[in-house]
Parts: sequence; structure tokens; C-alpha cells
Amino acid sequence: MSSLKPVRGTRDILADDILRHRHVEETARAVASRYGYAEISTPIFEFTEVFARTLGDTSDIVTKEMYTFEDKGGDRITLRPEGTAGVARAFISEGLAQNLPLKFFYRGPMFRYERPQKGRMRQFHQIGVELLGVAKPLADVEVIALGAHILDALGLAGKVVCELNSLGDGESRDAYRARLVDYLQDHKDRLSADSRERLERNPLRILDSKDDTDREIVAGAPLMSDSLNDDSRRFFDQLLRGLETAGVRYKINPRLVRGLDYYCHTAFEFTTDALGAQGTVLAGGRYDGLIRQMGGPQTPGIGWAAGVERLSMLVEGTPKAARPLVVIPVGEEAEERAFAVTQGLRRAGFAVDLGFSGNLG
Ligand code: ATP
Ligand code: MG
Repeated sequence: MSSLKPVRGTRDILADDILRHRHVEETARAVASRYGYAEISTPIFEFTEVFARTLGDTSDIVTKEMYTFEDKGGDRITLRPEGTAGVARAFISEGLAQNLPLKFFYRGPMFRYERPQKGRMRQFHQIGVELLGVAKPLADVEVIALGAHILDALGLAGKVVCELNSLGDGESRDAYRARLVDYLQDHKDRLSADSRERLERNPLRILDSKDDTDREIVAGAPLMSDSLNDDSRRFFDQLLRGLETAGVRYKINPRLVRGLDYYCHTAFEFTTDALGAQGTVLAGGRYDGLIRQMGGPQTPGIGWAAGVERLSMLVEGTPKAARPLVVIPVGEEAEERAFAVTQGLRRAGFAVDLGFSGNLG
């Protein structure tokens, strides 16, 4: 009976898997708290507007991947596909603008209707951080260094590379968009249907296309770095110097863009070649326009999110649960006493398993 199977793209997490997930989340939380990031937990569902407005109506997430439904009260609800929009919504609705800067850590399940494959699920889990209220490149340095620190604490430093690019400020992006559209117009016939549509509405997204022919065309496209104005270039240089001081190694990838509309300046991804096609483990960027776009006060922000499933697959070995003592009653008349002894030991702080079978073997 198909209703007794988990829904496609979801799974039960048991045994060693859940220990590894917990290890990833707890390591991340502990490192983030050393950087002063306080945990926040926002609802797993929000009004659809929260995501539709922030992710932009041309993003893959909004056009194809959201789990949206009407609830019994007639409200349009969406299961959260990512964490930033909910944090930004909370920032506005909780009236937190007085308390800047703010630093948040979050963890939890996310939902996207995608084609399930290794490292790509319909319910998956993310850890993430957001730093609100600081427009300086030093904020970008800290957020990226925090990501690197967490990956290092998980023993993954040797398996990942930090790829980095600058999208520049609004003026630089407008200049770049114009050059990009010029170039892409000449290749319009060969672009995928999706990308032809994006050419009008959001041409930068074409740089992110996964279609093979699109990728070939994009390989010859003009580079964002040639369109950065002086301010944007200075911002990027300060970021690079900061990362060097912080000891974070990076590789500039002039082709790196983020699929979401509200990013500016810094875009980064920690990638690995150990997971096949799903090689991005942690990704983020600066989103100075997001909160105002949602109807809040102009507030700069930067953050990242990482996939717990992908990180768990990279972590070597299994973190072990505490090995318990075992109390085994021999014969039925010993059971009550055995239970009392077990409880006494548990209260004293030991992990104790009570054997129910009475079988010493
Ligand atoms: P991709 O290009 O792989 O689709 P994305 O750009 O959609 O990634 P983000 O929205 O930046 O991903 O999410 C941050 C991280 O969350 C990803 O780098 C990845 O580790 C993880 N992630 C995203 N979608 C999924 C998914 N469907 N299943 C498992 N992990 C995911
Ligand atoms: Mg995706």
C-alpha cells in the first residue's frame, strides 16, 4: 500500500544517521554561539507571500519547488523552502530594528518539490546563520569565517573549497545586466526555453542554469567583475583581505551567482567533489535589499545555509552515543528490584538499559 511508504523525497532518519545529523547541528550551534549568534526558531510554515515576495517570482524555488496549499481558513500557506525569509519576516514582525546588529543561528527542516536524488530531498534539513544590520565587508568576513570554522570543526576542511564572487551594488548589477543581455541575445535561439523566458525577466539567473547548452553559452558570457564600479571593487578587496587575515582560503569564481534575486556584493559557496552532482554544501551571500523589499526598514544583511544531509554524508565515522550499563533481572521475581536499581543509576547520571528478557546470554 503506497500510503504506508514515506512520501517520495522524504525519509525516516534512524540509528547512525540521526547521530550524525545531531553531531552536525550541535557542532554548528556550539561554534556559532562562540561568535555570538543566538538561536532562533521560526515557524515551519508562513504565508506564501513571505517567500513569493522575497525569493522573487522568477526563482526556481518560487516557480517550481514550493509546497503551497490553502488552509481551512482560506489562507495561502507555504512550507518553508529556506530559512532567510522567515528570519527577515520575524525581524519585521517582532520589531527588532532597535536592536541591531543582530546575529541568528537556525536549524530545521525545509521543503522543496524537486527531483529526489542523492543529496537532494523534498524534506531536508539546514543549519544557517544571518547577520543583520552591518553593511561593512567585515560582516561578510565574519559570516564566511564562521562557516569555515564549522566545516573545520566537523573535520571537513580538507574536503571543501570556498568559492567566492562579487555581484556588486545595484549600479554595477544594472551595468552588468545590460552587457549580459546584449551577449545572450546573440545566442537566444540556442538557449533553453526556461532561459529564454528569464532573458526578459531575470537574465542573471541564466548564469545559474543547469542546462548543458545554456552552460556552454554562459561560459563565453562577459564577466561580472568587469562591470564592478569603484565602490563595489573596494568592498570586494576588503573582503578578500579580511579573509586572508582570518586564514580562510578561497577561490574566486567569476561565474558564481546565487539563484535568488535579493543578493548583492558577496556570493559564496563551499563546494566538494565528494558528493557527485550535489556538490554545494554551504552557500550564502549578502542581501541588503531583502528586508526593505518585504516592507521593513532598510537593513543590510548577510548569511548562509548549509544542507545537513550533505554535511552528514561527508562526516567520517559515527559519533557514538554513550555506551550504557545494562541491568538484567534474572527471573521474574528480580524484575522490580532490577528496575529500582536501574532508576537509581539513571538518576545518578549513568546511561542504563534495562534488559527485559531475563536472558543472560
Ligand atoms: P542546488 O543548486 O543544489 O539546488 P540551492 O542553490 O537550491 O542548491 P540553497 O538554496 O543555497 O541551495 O540551500 C543551501 C544548501 O542547502 C545547499 O547548498 C545544500 O547543501 C542544501 N540543499 C538545498 N536544497 C536541498 C535539497 N533539496 N536536499 C538536500 N539539501 C539541499
Ligand atoms: Mg535548488
